[in-house]
Amino acid sequence: MKNDEKMLAAMIYGVKDLRVEEVPKPSVEHGEVLVRVKAATTCGTDLKIFQRGYVEGVIKLPTVFGHEWAGEVVEVGEGVSWPEVGMRVRAGNSAPCLRCRMCQRGSFNMCENMMWLWGAYAEYIKVPARMVLVNMQEIPEHVPFEEAAITEPLACVLRGAEKANVKLGDTVAIIGAGPIGLLHLLTAKKMGAEKIIVTDLVDERLDMAEKLGADEAVNAGREDVVQRIKELTGGYGADVVIEAIGQPSTWEQALKMARKGGTVLEFGGCPPNTEIRVSTEMLHYGDLTVIGAFHTTPTYFKKALNLISSGAINVKPLITQRMPLTKIREAFETLITSKKDVKIAINP
Ligand SMILES: [Zn+2]
Ligand SMILES: [Zn+2]
Repeated sequence: MKNDEKMLAAMIYGVKDLRVEEVPKPSVEHGEVLVRVKAATTCGTDLKIFQRGYVEGVIKLPTVFGHEWAGEVVEVGEGVSWPEVGMRVRAGNSAPCLRCRMCQRGSFNMCENMMWLWGAYAEYIKVPARMVLVNMQEIPEHVPFEEAAITEPLACVLRGAEKANVKLGDTVAIIGAGPIGLLHLLTAKKMGAEKIIVTDLVDERLDMAEKLGADEAVNAGREDVVQRIKELTGGYGADVVIEAIGQPSTWEQALKMARKGGTVLEFGGCPPNTEIRVSTEMLHYGDLTVIGAFHTTPTYFKKALNLISSGAINVKPLITQRMPLTKIREAFETLITSKKDVKIAINP
């Protein structure tokens, strides 16, 4: 099917070079679904791409980007029995193949043929057939599109928090009060943490953490956070520590904040080719459990959307501004300079 229709989409050409352009509107083929994007939310990953650019060789510029979105089905390809035109849906940003060795072992987040979908900052997004089958969900009528868009980061956080085994009565320390740290806060609270301590360098973000239920907020620029965590836990350290920044220095700091026998979830992705130092004594005599976590699986996408829909996890406060697609560049500039913006909802 040939199609001469155009749509608006944000294209990234390089560092801070983001343009809204007219591009061909995608046409659907067998098994595919075309969605009118109603809301796309900004994410730390997108901000990194905007600020530093893509890792060279990984992807060809210019390219569409953005990966957290929700919208309405406007067209379905041949052979599609679900969803229907008009249905409110979200999908992606990943779809495992279900056939590779990792998938067959149940490690869907480690799929060797993972399909990724970019292009949320656009009027329309075409969802590939595999993604329609394994990672697309219907959004209940009462859930705003912008909140449904946050399903993706929440799905990653849920998997991490379950892996770290946050339990009823735990004291949890979270390093970083950005979007991911705040989602960890909301999740840990729901999982029954008795006390949650959040650290960050920015007071405005710490205020937000307190508003969302943090029991203690510690400014890492003014206080020795490791010392402070010890003080706040009767000298022991936290049962679970979650690093949500992605810097080797804070990964190392996380190890020192955990109590003996505690768990450290190193969640934030660090820059390439970085390493951390771990005290063998602390790991051995301290009986520490150190966990890495990458991405998530379709099950958690479904769980995340259910938790947002039921109101069990309220993601609304994370959306601090709304902007039209034409102002996307301004949105990212704002995220770099603003101290109080967490996520901006883009409405194409
Ligand atoms: Zn994201
Ligand atoms: Zn696979």
